[in-house]
Amino acid sequence: MRTCIVCDTEIDLEAARSTTGQTTHGADEVDPDAGTRSFYNGEWYYFCGLQCRNNFLAAPTNYVS
Ligand SMILES: [Zn+2]
Repeated sequence: MRTCIVCDTEIDLEAARSTTGQTTHGADEVDPDAGTRSFYNGEWYYFCGLQCRNNFLAAPTNYVS
């Protein structure tokens, strides 16, 4: 079980990966309320939602050493 790197909430990876559809450009879309992720510095980081992802992306070095 992964936890949100920002707030330590447990994340259901299947839910975070499950697609809800595709964008008009053909990219997979996921439900951001079920969990989301971001690729940073060669690794995927998982978040419980968009707010935590935004916090991470604003200052990733606060969370990754
Ligand atoms: Zn979180």
